[in-house]
Amino acid sequence: MPIVEVSNLGKVYGSGSTAFAALEGITFSVEPGEFVAIVGPSGAGKTTLLKCLSGLMQPTSGSVTVFGKRVTRPPREVGVVFQDYSRSLMPWLTVRRNVEFPLGRAARRDPQKAARVDTALQSVGLADSHGKYPWQLSGGMQQRVAIARALAYEPSILIMDEPFASVDAQTRFELEDLVLRVKDEFGVTILFVTHDIDEAVYVSSRI
Ligand code: ADP
Repeated sequence: MPIVEVSNLGKVYGSGSTAFAALEGITFSVEPGEFVAIVGPSGAGKTTLLKCLSGLMQPTSGSVTVFGKRVTRPPREVGVVFQDYSRSLMPWLTVRRNVEFPLGRAARRDPQKAARVDTALQSVGLADSHGKYPWQLSGGMQQRVAIARALAYEPSILIMDEPFASVDAQTRFELEDLVLRVKDEFGVTILFVTHDIDEAVYVSSRI
């Protein structure tokens, strides 16, 4: 039983003479436990597709369903890691507070939620950095905070939009291995966008 089903999806930006079809007739499905890479050059419509999948944007035609339910807003089961960690982390919050953020205001006093934050930070190797601010960390570490934040939310599906495009090559290799490890550890299904064919071949089970 697929957990994500994309059916004849289309997205048109603008209208009239400025209308531009970014996506047309996209159909595919994702089974639980898969690691699916979506590969294409800049401008191919990858981010548009992910925005429709994560409920951040409505398609112009077709549909997306997650666990059999049509996506009209961000589904609870989906976590997202964006490319630009410097804009997705909140600079005025510590690492720990950033990771707690999606769990709600009561997370700090809830021992179960606190344990989820601890586990996520530990999994990405940042247990010792919980009191630091994002701007005190390297780019690779900041992206690990963003990954921990998504994991603490315990999503069934993790959507990653070129998550390693802004880090150096060596950090990128480390983060690719980290994602493969946490995928098994947390049992998540991953949809991963990249323009890097080598990366897609290395991390995914299907492209
Ligand atoms: P990718 O992620 O593969 O680089 P995008 O999904 O960002 O591609 O963009 C696909 C196409 O849609 C590009 O040609 C881009 O210029 C266009 N596009 C993206 N967002 C908008 C928007 N908000 N308004 C108009 N055109 C857009």
